[in-house]
Amino acid sequence: MSGKLLIIGFGPGSVDHMTKRAREAIEESDIVIGYKTYIDLVSDLIGDKPIISTGMTEEVSRAQEAVKWAERGKKVAVISSGDAGVYGMAGLVYEVLIEKGWTKESGVEVEVIPGVSAINSCGALLGAPIMHDACTISLSDHLTPWTLIEKRIEAAAMADFVIALYNPKSGRRTRQIVEAQRILLRYRSPETPVGLVKSAYRARQQIVITDLEHMLEYEIGMLTTVIIGNSSTFVHDGMMITPRGYQRKYTLDALEQPLKPHERLRKEAEPWALDQVKAERVRRTAEAALQKIAVRQNEQQETFPDILELAVSPGVANKVLAPEQMIAIANIAGSDGKMMYTPDHYLKLEIPTANPDDVIAKLKEAGLIVAPIGDVLTVKACDFCDGEKTDAIPYAKQLHEQLNGLALPKELKLGFNGCGMACYGAVREDIGIVYRKGAFDLFLGGKTIGRNAHPGQLVAEGIPPHEIVPTVIRIIQEYKEHGHPNERFHKFFQRVKQVSGFVYQEANSKSKIEVPACGE
Ligand code: SAH
Repeated sequence: MSGKLLIIGFGPGSVDHMTKRAREAIEESDIVIGYKTYIDLVSDLIGDKPIISTGMTEEVSRAQEAVKWAERGKKVAVISSGDAGVYGMAGLVYEVLIEKGWTKESGVEVEVIPGVSAINSCGALLGAPIMHDACTISLSDHLTPWTLIEKRIEAAAMADFVIALYNPKSGRRTRQIVEAQRILLRYRSPETPVGLVKSAYRARQQIVITDLEHMLEYEIGMLTTVIIGNSSTFVHDGMMITPRGYQRKYTLDALEQPLKPHERLRKEAEPWALDQVKAERVRRTAEAALQKIAVRQNEQQETFPDILELAVSPGVANKVLAPEQMIAIANIAGSDGKMMYTPDHYLKLEIPTANPDDVIAKLKEAGLIVAPIGDVLTVKACDFCDGEKTDAIPYAKQLHEQLNGLALPKELKLGFNGCGMACYGAVREDIGIVYRKGAFDLFLGGKTIGRNAHPGQLVAEGIPPHEIVPTVIRIIQEYKEHGHPNERFHKFFQRVKQVSGFVYQEANSKSKIEVPACGE
């Protein structure tokens, strides 16, 4: 008995992109088994060998048939498109064999021949979108529960993987790709590049480069692979490119690299590496996990108290924490709680508790302002030079009362400074308001952090006091209603070009800002 199973991935479709071993294997086989369309693609190599071809959904019977003929002593070629181990026939054939008690020793010989999978062939046609950590997700819920597919999309989106979506859509499965886009938009910008490749390296090949927002406006079908870029993927001259690394350690336009080879692996050159920024977080996560395991082993406690996260500050303009307040905060946080000072004019508390309302009430009793943390609006007012510039304080308080803690598509900081010095940096916040000569200047779309940090655009000067609160509220309402999930305010302003009548200007045509004298 010299039967053998040759499980062959023939690549995207053209003979040129098939491996030499795949071609040989088809030639040396006695029988070829595969889905009709695939048989047609490699018919030249098959010649007049017997063929067993079945429909798309009959994969199990194809695998059973293949095993049967191999056991009868035939060399059987089982063909899959792309790679036979990627949503192909390889696993299925092994499953059928194992069910029948197959072992390497006693059973028929099996050879799995690798092929170029769609993620690679479609990636090559798009440019170089894969490059970095990537994953494949099949949107077919025929064999996998949709709830699990949904979780995988969310996890991959969250972790910034480049994602290749296989089986994105068929005649009957049309909602899956719509749902996938919706989940992705919760974590990625609408401008994220997306590549659609249909029938790569086959007769009816089609390539489209679009973005996450517009991808559904193009044809997507059974023969399409959808490639979603990560947060640094960009489009250049009709190609989709993902840079090799996130933070450039290399300079591409200089012959001499800023970092010499021996410097590149130094700690300072890699502030993002595991043993640096993440060290503390990793330690805490590991400790928490160990603690959970310990508790589970002792079976002392079944549930864990939730961690209440909140922002605490002494006042809108007041930046002074009284000693008694510090003591109260420390007591309320307790030895398991955590207190952090942040650049956002508040202390961040993380308190394990089963009674969040109780904690909040105690903090308020101590005369503190309590606000939620996350994708909410935070008012960051200056200290008005300890109350000297009191004219503007009521407006800051009013904005705080009406807007602080409001849930938005993404966190938003509203900077409010009481004089033209703007020494608390209001103009760099998402929205900046500066009180000057009895009226308000308004800045929109600043970005405080990142390599492309920039001030907001000065959109209006001299807004009369009674108009400032309604003006800001209108802007916030527009952003709340029309901002995409996770879209920062400055991106939103850039995309919609106009918010509440204030027009976005490209960076190079920025208006000039006069620097006022101290205290003006
Ligand atoms: N084993 C195959 C995948 C089979 S699942 C592989 O490794 O590529 C079928 C899905 O693969 C299709 O819905 C499509 O998303 C993708 N696919 C396979 N061949 C393709 C091709 N030539 N062009 C574009 N997508 C392809």
